[in-house]
Amino acid sequence: MTRAFVLGVISTVGCLSIAVAASQAPAAPSPGALAATKIEKVKDNLYIITGSTPMPRENFSGGNTGVFITDKGVVVVDTKLANWGPTILERIKSVTDKPVTTIINTHTHGDHTGSNEFFGASVESVVHENTKANMARMDAFKGDKAQFLPKRTYTDKLTLGSGKDQIDLYHFGAGHTNGDTFIVYTALRTMQAGDMYPWKDAPFIDRSNGGSGRQWPLTLKKLVDGVKNVDTVIGGHQPVTTWKDLATFQQFTADLWAQTEAAQKSGQSVDEAAANTAWISKYPGYESTRLKAAVQAIYDELSGK
Ligand SMILES: [Zn+2]
Repeated sequence: MTRAFVLGVISTVGCLSIAVAASQAPAAPSPGALAATKIEKVKDNLYIITGSTPMPRENFSGGNTGVFITDKGVVVVDTKLANWGPTILERIKSVTDKPVTTIINTHTHGDHTGSNEFFGASVESVVHENTKANMARMDAFKGDKAQFLPKRTYTDKLTLGSGKDQIDLYHFGAGHTNGDTFIVYTALRTMQAGDMYPWKDAPFIDRSNGGSGRQWPLTLKKLVDGVKNVDTVIGGHQPVTTWKDLATFQQFTADLWAQTEAAQKSGQSVDEAAANTAWISKYPGYESTRLKAAVQAIYDELSGK
């Protein structure tokens, strides 16, 4: 990792908390974070263990964790920050006696992969091929820890299990990173989107892991057009939401790109472009607290940085 790369990462406001949190996870979860980490039923045999947003830092546990109870065992989707393994397992044990047999990570970030190690090297683990490459560059998976890298990868689509236990994994291109997976629990008409739909605000575009503000709306368009029979969506760091809401976020990311590209072409600075929040008002409930970081990332992308 070069010095320029490190500075590039920590200079991005939206990224700072994630980078710090991922590399310096607290030794033990705080009482506030534990209280915010609940297991909630989504439908039938699918639960989430709730995550949180990176601020406030002391209450940050990571992203939402999917818990899918199949005949063969429990599939865990995303493992929060490091040191959250015991809490994840405790929450799972409150709803089933079955063992954790499979881990899927939606993408590379430490607030989604941090407790993979806790579940051991023998558990089946699956990610997109680019995410495995990204994870291999993380300190958490170097040296002796390489044994905890996911064993199985896929390129475009992978189906695990069948019948009521079927899970379809899809990759439609770059966005948050270059290895984002959408997980569809087919029988339950539910999808887990990871940080491709993190919150109702501008997203974190992680260009250091191949993310792209230009591709994000195109990737979500392929998802919205290509996947049928889903009504419920589990986002990265927000309460359970709907397919319709996800389609709205696709439009938001398209507007974000278009507005920012136009601002850059008209010679506006990043600060000027980020001060224009009028277009966000047509998205009820959306915030603009992360807009500036996203605008900066898009300016960098437009200028080929
Ligand atoms: Zn992320």
